[in-house]
Amino acid sequence: MRSSDTQRSEAGWIPKTRVGRMVQAGDVVSLEDIFKQGLRIMEPEIVDALVPGLRQEVLGIGFVQKQTDAGEKSRFKATVAVGNSAGFLGVGGGKARQVRSAIDKATLAAKLAIVPIRRGCGSWECGCGQPHSIPFTVKGKCGSVGIEIIPGPRGLGLVAGEVPKTVLTLAGVKDCWTRSFASTSTLGSMAFAVYEALRSTYGIVTPKDWVA
Ligand SMILES: [Zn+2]
Repeated sequence: MRSSDTQRSEAGWIPKTRVGRMVQAGDVVSLEDIFKQGLRIMEPEIVDALVPGLRQEVLGIGFVQKQTDAGEKSRFKATVAVGNSAGFLGVGGGKARQVRSAIDKATLAAKLAIVPIRRGCGSWECGCGQPHSIPFTVKGKCGSVGIEIIPGPRGLGLVAGEVPKTVLTLAGVKDCWTRSFASTSTLGSMAFAVYEALRSTYGIVTPKDWVA
């Protein structure tokens, strides 16, 4: 997909999928509706239309080298996270010969990977009942990188490294402890590990969860 496609405004959007047409017609007005009805997001414009305050952060840029008949070919690899700081988070990766294109591809992938995160106050020291942390301890893994996210009391802040902190902030988690396990420091893998951990706050998404 060309970079201009991901930047295109909602106004000029011609939906290609049924869900896209439902969003444009106003039959679906929130991401909650999408997940409640078990619909799949196949177009990034759906996310743009339903989450106006979506923020994105580039978490890492790396190189990938591949041997081809023509010699060594290097490409950039970008990892991007998107979130509304209120319970929706996506993380994606993209590879391209240009940095800008790799970021655009990763942003697109992150939007298509957006999921709800269940926030809460799972801290026994706190017990305020507000959604400033997560409801219980969760774990995530990507390759050789693993992370455990532990609920913390209000005012604690994010006791986490730079990448987990950015991803947690985009998800809307304000207070927690983290413990990470990594044999090699790969920023992209860490971002995906945090994403996996946070999305596991919803084991199975049922309509009942949305009513609560
Ligand atoms: Zn609390």
